[in-house]
Amino acid sequence: PEVPVGSILAAGAARWGDRTAFAHDGHSLTFAETHRAACRFANALRERGIGRGDVVALHLPNCLAFPVAYYGTLLAGATFGPANPLLPPDDLAFQLTDCEAAAVVTFGPVAGALASVADRIPARLTVVVQPVDGLPEGAVEFQAFHAAQPETPPAVDVDIHRDLAHLAYTGGTTGRSKGVRLSHRNVVVNTLQHACWGTGSVPALDARGDVTIDQIGGEDEWPARLGTGVAINLTPWFHAMGIIGGLNAAVVAGTTMVLHTRFDPAAYVADAERLRITGIGGAPALFAALLATPSFHTADLSSVRSIGSGAAPMNHAMINALRERFPDVVVTEGYGLTEATMGAVISPTYRSGVRKVGSVGVPIFDTEVKVVPAEGGEDPLPPGERGEVCLRGPQIMLGYRNRPEETAAALVDGWLHTGDIGILDEDGYLSIVDRKKDMLLYKGYNVFPRELEELLISMPGVAAAAVVGRPDAEVGELPVAFVVPRGDLDADGLMAAVNEKVLPYKRLREVHVVEQIPVSAAGKVLKRELRQQLIGDLD
Ligand code: ATP
Repeated sequence: PEVPVGSILAAGAARWGDRTAFAHDGHSLTFAETHRAACRFANALRERGIGRGDVVALHLPNCLAFPVAYYGTLLAGATFGPANPLLPPDDLAFQLTDCEAAAVVTFGPVAGALASVADRIPARLTVVVQPVDGLPEGAVEFQAFHAAQPETPPAVDVDIHRDLAHLAYTGGTTGRSKGVRLSHRNVVVNTLQHACWGTGSVPALDARGDVTIDQIGGEDEWPARLGTGVAINLTPWFHAMGIIGGLNAAVVAGTTMVLHTRFDPAAYVADAERLRITGIGGAPALFAALLATPSFHTADLSSVRSIGSGAAPMNHAMINALRERFPDVVVTEGYGLTEATMGAVISPTYRSGVRKVGSVGVPIFDTEVKVVPAEGGEDPLPPGERGEVCLRGPQIMLGYRNRPEETAAALVDGWLHTGDIGILDEDGYLSIVDRKKDMLLYKGYNVFPRELEELLISMPGVAAAAVVGRPDAEVGELPVAFVVPRGDLDADGLMAAVNEKVLPYKRLREVHVVEQIPVSAAGKVLKRELRQQLIGDLD
């Protein structure tokens, strides 16, 4: 599809018009209203001289202003720069300087962090949504900024292959976030790749690269799976999974997104039942919390027809528990990374009917996967062998921003080296073993924390588990577990039970019982923090 990202909202408005697109705290926007407001926002940016080549950073939580500012930025021909509203001031200053943001749209309750670094960042325009303590100097209020503008989209020239739609930042799970350059084509293609699966548009899948926005969720053919559903959105839109799966794909499919900005599992379940939601999507942390909520098991959730997880590994116990709770729904899992816009591999829903527990599935259309030796080299390993996962397809980034060496290492002949260790089986199904960076080295042997985590979570009394390495001068790294108990837990007994099942070099050396395991806003375990806790211990 040779169209810019702004076309997604234009098409959504034309197809789903007066249907509610977003609802939050008693307020809502229809698809058509969102489009009109986004056009006003785009015109307001243009009036300030902001357009092609400029980055507009959205320092916003999910709220009704977000899609207006997001699509407005793209309709103006500018680039969306997502910024986590909870970033500490120094990280915020780094990111806004790194991306050279020309404008920032911020949110009253977090505007203070922005104001505290205002003299270090290059932005020439600040727009504030819901100001709380008055406006910072020179800033303009969101409604005042765009309300009086014309509602027709400005005429802009966009090169969909070269102009950046997103300058996204990686989750920062393993180190400092990197700016990822994504074109309009990257974003539109990945949205359609995802929406094909989400709505069950089988022929669109077979059409492969020729699929157009209008083909998704073709009403006549698949009424039962039509994308005119309702979902509760928790995934942050500043993250890859949120902006593609939770926003763009929902607009394509005509899904009403009810925004919950604070995660309260009981409130989630109550709303899910009341609104008769049709899909549940999010990171594994969402499903873990829901499964631990009593009302989740008793509420009438018979309206749910799709369940999708992504962003981090789902453990097998969780998949099985969800299958038991929803015997008629296929639990899908997607795998991807910011460098692949969002998604690249997804577990099949109904196309082949085969869902292999433990595998993240098969490549999404127009995408190739290969596994190469982790130590280096481009030749694919035979099926069943473990190595680094590489991806090629139209959703792969143009490169990192300002990091030529890292770009050259990550992109070789169009193949993205993901830094994840995986295995392809004979049928082309991919399993993610672990991240290269999380892998431990014990006397030269590789230890994959995820194998130990799967064992821990399968033991009675374990609600959650994460394994990291304790540096050791003699052997390299020793596997150490952090475990959240469910009821009483005997840490020594647990360690012995796990160690009985693994080869000696993989044995756990310590088990720490903790109240919770730190996770990022996108729901990923922050191993960096756990490692720091261990090193702190050593000092
Ligand atoms: P950084 O690269 O800055 O450390 P990050 O890796 O968290 O941050 P993201 O792009 O948000 O950046 O995350 C992508 C990573 O998430 C993948 O490389 C992979 O390790 C992990 N991941 C995503 N989906 C899955 C999945 N279904 N199963 C296992 N791991 C997954």
